[in-house]
Amino acid sequence: MTFREARMQAQERLLAAKIPDAAVDARLLLEYVTGLSAAVCLAKDGEDLPPETQQAYTEAVDKRTQRIPLQHITGEQDFYGRTFRVSPAVLVPRQDTEVLVERALAFARDGMRILDLCTGSGCILISMLLERPGLAGVGTDISEDALAVAKENAARLGAEAELRQGDLFDALRAGEMFDIIVSNPPYISPAEIATLSPEVKDHDPRMALDGGEDGLDFYRRIAQEAGVYLAPGGRMFLEIGCDQWNDVKAILEDAGWKDVCLKKDLAGLDRVVEAGK
Ligand code: GLN
Repeated sequence: MTFREARMQAQERLLAAKIPDAAVDARLLLEYVTGLSAAVCLAKDGEDLPPETQQAYTEAVDKRTQRIPLQHITGEQDFYGRTFRVSPAVLVPRQDTEVLVERALAFARDGMRILDLCTGSGCILISMLLERPGLAGVGTDISEDALAVAKENAARLGAEAELRQGDLFDALRAGEMFDIIVSNPPYISPAEIATLSPEVKDHDPRMALDGGEDGLDFYRRIAQEAGVYLAPGGRMFLEIGCDQWNDVKAILEDAGWKDVCLKKDLAGLDRVVEAGK
């Protein structure tokens, strides 16, 4: 069987299982099992696929037909131009979150310290540290398993991130100060989680999605507690759900935050809230 025949057969199976983006996933899984780039895979379209690779490909496609996310099969996801390791212990990094990194980097100056709450895979903090080597930063997460993934990412990508276990601010020492606080906290309500795709609701960690009854619990806690850790002149950047701007703005302003403003993502949806003290 040639590369092309194997790919078309995989595409048919994915289509039959009603997997969104069947053609793209068939191609990406073939690249994954062969270990070849997109360009090389395409150049080999008419060549025979070795039988052991065929077997591995069939198994990978089987998993995808069961709605296991592509990223959990390949173990990776690209974010801000780099490849991050992922596992079922972390939220798969989303492209929507790249605008948060972009905004925080626009504010960043050499020597500043970053705090990334709910760091998960570490994608936000590690991207910032690698883009601007003059920055330093701490990432916290309640999940040991998530932190292990973040540590692996920091080591593989060569970022000097300090990664600490703890529930939000519990991992911090009294008096510790940061110039930039970033977070993409869990912000989905249980009712909304139930409506999401199987890839998300059954495979992203529930605790990385669930923001409490109305989805806003983490914004309330962050609004109350983050101020003491933000240095004078510092700024906070929070990802929000696209229908949460009015609520999050009110939560922050009620807690005394100033200069609260909104940035949209590339899809034109409300995505990042910024605030100062
Ligand atoms: N900070 C990580 C990310 O943006 C994880 C976020 C989370 O678990 N809610 O991907």
